[in-house]
Amino acid sequence: PILLQKKPDWFKVRREHGENFRDLKRIMRGLSLHTVCEEARCPNIYECWNQRTATVMILGDLCTRACRFCNVRWGRSSIVDYEEPVRVAEAIAAMGLDFAVITSVNRDDLPDGGASIFAATIREIRRRLPECGIEVLIPDFQGNWQALRLVVEARPDVIAHNVETVPRLFRKIQPWDRYEWSLELFSQVKAIDPEIITKSGVIVGMGETKEELVQVMRDLRERDVGILTIGQYLPPTPRHYPLDRYYLPEEFDELRAIGYELGFGHVEAGPLVRSSYRAGEQVAAFRQR
Ligand code: SF4
Ligand code: SF4
Repeated sequence: PILLQKKPDWFKVRREHGENFRDLKRIMRGLSLHTVCEEARCPNIYECWNQRTATVMILGDLCTRACRFCNVRWGRSSIVDYEEPVRVAEAIAAMGLDFAVITSVNRDDLPDGGASIFAATIREIRRRLPECGIEVLIPDFQGNWQALRLVVEARPDVIAHNVETVPRLFRKIQPWDRYEWSLELFSQVKAIDPEIITKSGVIVGMGETKEELVQVMRDLRERDVGILTIGQYLPPTPRHYPLDRYYLPEEFDELRAIGYELGFGHVEAGPLVRSSYRAGEQVAAFRQR
């Protein structure tokens, strides 16, 4: 099986536990916060954390969905921690961030899917750090656009939502998600506040074709999505969805070029790219174009 094959050379990362790395770990544990960097076993954790960048995961560490590519644990916690937004803002201040990315597990058990906690978190960060850029990577709220409105009206700089794969593979990989919800989410955000930058991401190597990927890009552009990320799928464990293939660096270059042709303001594409990888720089590049 392909999992047992050696990863291509371009996946080599330096495992450096520098001072910043330890510092971030201390801040997160001290404030009882979770990061997607750790939960998703992100390969960029040493690079990002040593540069004092992290993505905070709110609303707990149990997800009500169980996407087959994802390492976050499945479960229902039914707990909402109303103090969490304050602690997230504290952590971001302690890390000295000028751009923060906040994401969450899916909380299909909550009537608003956790949208009000997202909104409170955005407001707390703004109150404490008015200059800090804020990106939220949100779930589809199962098509509950009233819930989405709460997040949009809190006015983050960027609203990201990852489609992750092509519609044909949704049923196999993320059967609780609907491609139509994801697309409609972007239309709704722009209808409420056209100034918010929207962003989406796909992970490749799960059996999709190039034509299907290009169609997804077109669908996103039709909804005025501004930033796109494209990264390689790496199964977190042998129990996860099997890898179909590794994309070559040249293929990422080609996909990036297609993305620009289709009109995205910024495309971040490469083997180790994740949605939140250098998120602040992605937005700066988008604004410059
Ligand atoms: Fe964390 Fe994102 Fe960096 Fe990965 S790419 S370590 S998830 S901030
Ligand atoms: Fe992972 Fe998000 Fe899917 Fe939950 S919804 S399993 S956190 S990718």
